[in-house]
Amino acid sequence: MNNTHWSLERWRFVLILFGAFVCGFISGYWLLSIIIALVVYIIWLLYKLQQLHNWLEKGGKEAALPDSDGIWERINHHIQKTQKSNDRRKQRMHTLLKRFQGIITSLPYATVVLTVNNEIDWANKHAKDLLRIDIKTDRGQRIENLIRHPKIYTLWTKNNEKIIEITAPHDKHLKLSLQVIPIESDLKLFIARDISERVYLNQMRKNFIANASHELRTPLTVIAGHLEIMEMNKDLPEKTIISIKAASEQSARMQSIIEDLLTLSRLENSELSVDSVEILDMEALITDICNVESSINENTHILHLDQIDPSIKLKGSRAEIISVCSNLIHNAIRYTPKKTDITITWEKQPSGEACFSVKDTGAGIAPQHLSHLTERFYRVDKGRSQDTGGTGLGLAIVLHIMQRHGGRLDIKSEVEQGSTFSAYFPAERVI
Ligand code: ADP
Repeated sequence: MNNTHWSLERWRFVLILFGAFVCGFISGYWLLSIIIALVVYIIWLLYKLQQLHNWLEKGGKEAALPDSDGIWERINHHIQKTQKSNDRRKQRMHTLLKRFQGIITSLPYATVVLTVNNEIDWANKHAKDLLRIDIKTDRGQRIENLIRHPKIYTLWTKNNEKIIEITAPHDKHLKLSLQVIPIESDLKLFIARDISERVYLNQMRKNFIANASHELRTPLTVIAGHLEIMEMNKDLPEKTIISIKAASEQSARMQSIIEDLLTLSRLENSELSVDSVEILDMEALITDICNVESSINENTHILHLDQIDPSIKLKGSRAEIISVCSNLIHNAIRYTPKKTDITITWEKQPSGEACFSVKDTGAGIAPQHLSHLTERFYRVDKGRSQDTGGTGLGLAIVLHIMQRHGGRLDIKSEVEQGSTFSAYFPAERVI
């Protein structure tokens, strides 16, 4: 096919030259005839080129394709083929883009596309309702200038894909969860969800627990008081005394649960206040707790305190840090056989964090329980925990306190080997 077009073109050229020779032969002006023939051929080529150029300039529509033959027909055909495939690709991209925009627009979240320096490039219609970002007027603005909240900076500084929860700056009843998903080095997706209902229900749950615990506290104290008085009455039959003792133990247990629930409610409903923070001498604090625990438990366990660095002080709430340390030490004693070793450490980590850890050589905890230990009332062995007077709230309290102090709780355990509970405090709290 290609060759046919080229041979036609060659024949055209040969024919023109032949015509020039015939004219030269008749007229005797050889050179002039050849020059005129070549000039005519070049003019014809230029005419074809101009036709092609005009056609392309007018959009290269198939209907307006210039009449041509030989190699020009081939060239036109190639151009048209490339154009058609480009059109098809454009159409496909356009459909895809429309579909993608449709999906993002109909998502029940506010979605904003951010470019370098967190400048807004695109936003869906929910962004207007939830974030007051209108793409028509706000394109190119930095998102921090539109959502003025101190927490928003943690989205860029902390690890990516972190979710933060804030109260919308323009409406105190609107609670938002914000997330940034990096797409390319200079392209991010900023997503905001309305979580007001979830926050409201959560708050209702917290209030209910706090109120119920508070309401139960007084009658329970009265019942416990009466049981104590009755227990002291030596005239009662022995069977009755045994029943009263059992009731007394249970009411004491209920009192501990209510106290722990109230502690949790207080931790959940308030931020760590600056007034309650002081510089703590951790060596003295840990030693005191160990002495108290040892005397309560009549030195049943061997506590090792030689890895406590006296030079490291901590900025925190005394009552709360005591609660963390005593809960972890108390658990180690409770869930470890008598006469075994418990190692308590207070050390600085290479990262700058300070770590308080309690390592026991008890029965250990199976891996499937580890992630649930800090849930309220979660017990690995319910019977054992109740026997030892556990409320099932100790580790939940520890976790909350650690979060309030910007720290974290790490639990490592192996069945039959023992457990290590480590409370890590951030470098900025360590002196
Ligand atoms: P509890 O008051 O029941 O001890 P916690 O919240 O303190 O509640 O602990 C939750 C559960 O974790 C416990 O019931 C126990 O099964 C398990 N646990 C905690 N500490 C230890 C430990 N040092 N060794 C083994 N199991 C432990």
